Amino acid sequence: MIVVMEENAPEDKITRVVDRLVTLGFDIHRSTGARHTILGAVGAQIADTRDLELLDGVQEVVRVSVPYKLASRAFKPEGTQVRIKDVVIGGEQVVMMAGPCTIESREQVETTAAAVASQGVQIMRGGAFKPRTSPYSFQGLGEQGLRMLREAADRYGMLTVSEIMESSQIPMFIRYVDILQVGARNMQNFNLLKDLAKLNKPVLLKRGPAATIEETLLSAEYLMAGGNHEVIICERGIKTFETYTRNTLDISAIPVIKKLSHLPVIADPSHGTGRRDKVPPMARAAVAAGADGLLIEVHSDPDRALCDGAQSLLPEQFTKLMAQLRQIAPAVERRM
Ligand code: PEP
Ligand code: MN
Repeated sequence: MIVVMEENAPEDKITRVVDRLVTLGFDIHRSTGARHTILGAVGAQIADTRDLELLDGVQEVVRVSVPYKLASRAFKPEGTQVRIKDVVIGGEQVVMMAGPCTIESREQVETTAAAVASQGVQIMRGGAFKPRTSPYSFQGLGEQGLRMLREAADRYGMLTVSEIMESSQIPMFIRYVDILQVGARNMQNFNLLKDLAKLNKPVLLKRGPAATIEETLLSAEYLMAGGNHEVIICERGIKTFETYTRNTLDISAIPVIKKLSHLPVIADPSHGTGRRDKVPPMARAAVAAGADGLLIEVHSDPDRALCDGAQSLLPEQFTKLMAQLRQIAPAVERRM
């Protein structure tokens, strides 16, 4: 960290800043220029520089290292591969996670499973506990939904991913689910993250709708600091001033996170756009931008879906998208 003192800051102010930094555990390397004194502070960590910026005589504080350590690229320059049975997320293959927003009925989950499995999808998605904006909306089938997801996925040799809402659900989820999804609304539910950190199960961590990339990586750090290094980050769109789309899918977050972190990054153009016709172009863009996988909502009868029908692809649209992705992936040295 570099602390730039105001022009001609008097010695007593500099001393007070140095004392404060030493108290925080930093070693100080001082350099005095013609006008500014610059303090190089090394050897300790603070997450928030505002307290220092407000010290009398300080002009600017510049962080030169990142506040997340285990999640940073430097910790594992070669990149993390999350391996579940024969599926590797973060390797050469672009991994597909697809299925309905919500498990609604046996018929719905079975027809959707057949459709996505026929396209080579490795991981079936489906929510059983739904974080709905309105308490009057369908809240999910609960454990029964997880069981249906597992049975349908097993029939086609697929893995499963589903959203966990709270720590008390962990024993139930680990019976049915291969990847525990932390939804966007729970990205900073630190108690949940700490409990998931103790597990030996991959976590799909969705970026919060108003979270910066750094905040997202700090949430990943919670999981890793607690012992769970099998973390996959998901860009699912952020809140902006735009209203045409449900969220703004931040495609640039993919290469940014891939540079800052060694963790695999997938994209969710379904929640990222909220509109079925916009899902294929953004899915194509995400693969071109280097995503390690995609999370796509597919429904066999989206007009009757209980949740997110408008952003769910019909099976035939999903089939067409997969054919396009199979062409795009090799152009960016990946395979589908
Ligand atoms: C979901 O994947 O079904 C979901 C609710 O997504 P998000 O948490 O990104 O809104
Ligand atoms: Mn959904």
